[in-house]
Amino acid sequence: MSVQQIVILGGGESGVGAALLAQAKGFDVFLSDRGALKVAYRDTLEAAGIPFEEGQHTEERILAATEVVKSPGIPATVPLVQKLRAQGTPIISEIEFAARYTNAKLIGITGSNGKTTTTLLTYHLLKTAGLHVGLAGNIGDSFAAQVITDSFDYYVLELSSFQLDDMYQTHLNVMVLLNITPDHLDRYNYSFQNYVDSKFRILQNAQPQNDFIYFMESQPILDELAKRQPDVRQLPISLEASPSPGGYMADGRLITQNKQHSVSISQSDTPLRGPHNALNMLAAILVAQSVGVATEAIEAGLKSFQNAAHRLEPAGTVNGIQFINDSKATNVDSVFYALSSMDAPIIWVAGGQDKGNDYSQLDELVHKKVKALICLGVDNHKLVDYFGGTVSSVYETQDVSDAIAKGLEWGNPGDVVLLSPACASFDLFKNYEDRGNQFKAAVQKMM
Ligand code: ADP
Repeated sequence: MSVQQIVILGGGESGVGAALLAQAKGFDVFLSDRGALKVAYRDTLEAAGIPFEEGQHTEERILAATEVVKSPGIPATVPLVQKLRAQGTPIISEIEFAARYTNAKLIGITGSNGKTTTTLLTYHLLKTAGLHVGLAGNIGDSFAAQVITDSFDYYVLELSSFQLDDMYQTHLNVMVLLNITPDHLDRYNYSFQNYVDSKFRILQNAQPQNDFIYFMESQPILDELAKRQPDVRQLPISLEASPSPGGYMADGRLITQNKQHSVSISQSDTPLRGPHNALNMLAAILVAQSVGVATEAIEAGLKSFQNAAHRLEPAGTVNGIQFINDSKATNVDSVFYALSSMDAPIIWVAGGQDKGNDYSQLDELVHKKVKALICLGVDNHKLVDYFGGTVSSVYETQDVSDAIAKGLEWGNPGDVVLLSPACASFDLFKNYEDRGNQFKAAVQKMM
């Protein structure tokens, strides 16, 4: 039999990792990226002697592939992908490809919001407990590159819906579904059900002995579970009920029960604030219990965790006014939880590229907690029109320093200036990190 031709579409972290793995496994590999490659990735491919192209897709060569590994950033609607599908070429994600080459137990974490926080925390709990665990998926180093020297017993995988879309056989031992709220609908034909179906692919190979952790106050999750009735061990997490086995909150404590083990720890003894983070922690604790981490190790790990930047990150206090950077809040649901997490009066900095937002979920919280709105975007009319009647002070700017100066002018000691944009950042910034970093730097200048 001739050697299989693997074509990799997209030369980012996952694509280059997949190319290295394909080469290590003896396939003929070709990587193609329509844009320019980052220097480090180009260097890696050249050093490995892997053929590649950038700035174009040579169709003839790509259509000759036996199998294609597609970057999650490339929509299924692009003509080249359509042509591959039409001729029946299998298209898989880097996760699917890599999973073939590891015997490690896989923990998959998805949801519209909270994936990164929960994935990092789960990884931290397992690692500090002494397990041999890797971190991959939508975060950090490529999964495929890591399995070349496969030495971990577990991987914690952050899975976006785009990655799940191109997964078929991967068997996840523990699955987490944090929530489903409208996001990325442009990639799902503007159908929420399509997006729900994508998220539920996390369960597609679940077996009865596997653990499925999910948020039981997420109506779309409940509706879908009622339809599908999956045969899997269910571990619900809740802010309102007390499921057992499962996880819940009682008197400010995180309580979980799983496999004869229980954890009870006060949220104030952990570094993560807010109801959304309580859910993320409950999910991570249940995963740790599922793989056998002892209660003491879980409690110690919770205390020593440090979250990634730009998620309700304290950015400094000036004149008694606290500045908080939640630049990663790029949709309405994440803002809902950011506003819920604040006790002080809020001067809310929002705006950017709108993704078809419906702000009605925020009505009550904004009415109760937001004293002023600073719109930081190129086109702010939607925010101004929607909240102009509720919030008495509204200001528009395209400049971060100006937004912060206005926050200082309007704020009183004890207030919070919260950057939680509900929108993508690409109108004024390179990405959400750039937006958050500029916000933090501007606050530092005022100190
Ligand atoms: P993701 O990787 O899914 O984007 P992150 O952990 O990076 O999730 O958090 C993204 C944004 O969503 C942040 O603003 C964060 O405060 C908020 N968030 C985190 N966890 C949740 C949750 N469980 N539900 C709703 N919003 C959340």
